[in-house]
Amino acid sequence: MSTACIASIDQGTTSTRCILFGLDGSILGLGQKEHRQIYPQPGWVEHDAAEIWRNTQTVIREARIAAGEHVSIAAVGVTNQRETLAVWNRKSGAPYANAIVWQDTRTQAICDRLAGDAGTERFQAQTGLPLATYFSGPKLVWLLENVPGLRAAAESGEAICGTMESWILWNLSGGPDGGAHITDVTNASRTMWMDLNKLAWEPELLEAFGVPAGMLPSIVPSSAKTPWGYTATSGPFEARLPLCGAVGDQQAALIGQCCFESGEAKNTYGTGCFLLLNTGQTPVPSKAGLLTTVAYQFEGSPAVYALEGSVAIAGALIQWLRDNLQLIDSAPEVEALARSVADNGGVYLVPAFTGLFAPHWRPDARGVLCGLTQFATKAHIARASLEAVAYQVHDVLVAMAKDSGIALGTLRVDGGMAANDLLMQFQADLHGSPVIRPTVLETTALGAAYAAGLGAGLFSNLEDLRSHWRVERTFEPAMSAEKRDEHLAGWHKALERSFGWE
Ligand code: ADP
Repeated sequence: MSTACIASIDQGTTSTRCILFGLDGSILGLGQKEHRQIYPQPGWVEHDAAEIWRNTQTVIREARIAAGEHVSIAAVGVTNQRETLAVWNRKSGAPYANAIVWQDTRTQAICDRLAGDAGTERFQAQTGLPLATYFSGPKLVWLLENVPGLRAAAESGEAICGTMESWILWNLSGGPDGGAHITDVTNASRTMWMDLNKLAWEPELLEAFGVPAGMLPSIVPSSAKTPWGYTATSGPFEARLPLCGAVGDQQAALIGQCCFESGEAKNTYGTGCFLLLNTGQTPVPSKAGLLTTVAYQFEGSPAVYALEGSVAIAGALIQWLRDNLQLIDSAPEVEALARSVADNGGVYLVPAFTGLFAPHWRPDARGVLCGLTQFATKAHIARASLEAVAYQVHDVLVAMAKDSGIALGTLRVDGGMAANDLLMQFQADLHGSPVIRPTVLETTALGAAYAAGLGAGLFSNLEDLRSHWRVERTFEPAMSAEKRDEHLAGWHKALERSFGWE
């Protein structure tokens, strides 16, 4: 008897993974491979799309070998680092240039030019996004202006573009031999060319960016009842499998966490933090420095939207304690060190190493460590560091509640740093509602598997998915209101001191 499973390809910023999930969410096989980070100049970050496609094939084969003979793959889903954009030749499959990665800031001048007198909010009402180097749109403008011959090839229909899920789906479905050129609605919502309500490319926006419409993939829902295409039998799956799930990584985590109701939110604690709040079927514009984005659209149902806020430095602060201050030897050790003291001893740390993202948006901010006395030890600094991550997340949660008018309930967490019990407890104390950690922390890959499984009819409905979601631990708020206010007052004083250094 073979076990049915779903193949989920997670094309991330540092590596590509393939996980084979059983229909109960269990992991049956896994392959993973890192790719090169290419830094041609300060502020530039590139990936070689051809290398990523080679790695994708390798990790699919590895996952199949790890799972053994007894599994049979019923559907394939893809999730990806968002905003990173590739351009390639439709006939040969060869990229015209390295893909420009979401972190790359080379497009600042293009953003300034597009903003003109209207400012960074010029396209926000339509797209949910402020003009910023982060998004895919300005990256394609840069490529069209700087890669010799690309504009002519784009206008003749030979050069096409896509974010990484688009690139992988095109290759998996045969590439130059009739590959499906599509992008899912969540990835499309990060380009600055899609109207959030119409869920279609907006000709006015394409014109403003100077982008030939013929280059763009077709926008599809995040899950498909009729597959967009099938894997080529000559490819790494060696079988004709339905391609029916695609979703950007943070939205995939929201799905993997089963945040299907308006008001449900998840936070991923990794190098930085990414918070998404499900706001239901209407996009909520932000006044508090958040992004409005598509959360998911399952074919046959209306699109669901989210408010998103990100924190630049979270786990990266723990790496800094380890590598720059050498306070600890490994990241998990920070918890025991922080627990060795009863509280922060009045010490606050604002890790504004690269300015502050949501909801403050202060590029002029830099890190500060304050409230020091002779009493303070490295343990207090460790504690202040963990608390700083929770304060930053709390500030985004407050902004989300303000923008959406939704009183936020429980917060679902995942990511490497969610393993830290002290941090999770402190987050619950600040939030005043429970913080819930599920048993499966591979929520990103799981979300793409769920999207594919819904499309292929392997799950009957969202309730079916919810029934697989298991709580590993719930952190209940336990701090008194006075103590909480005292902590927040200290944080806000520290925050003020971080502004205006640049
Ligand atoms: P990413 O996907 O961004 O690479 P991960 O989800 O793998 O991140 O999380 C890794 C980050 O979490 C690292 O920055 C590391 O410093 C931090 N981290 C991992 N374990 C712990 C822990 N127990 N306590 C605090 N931080 C941790």
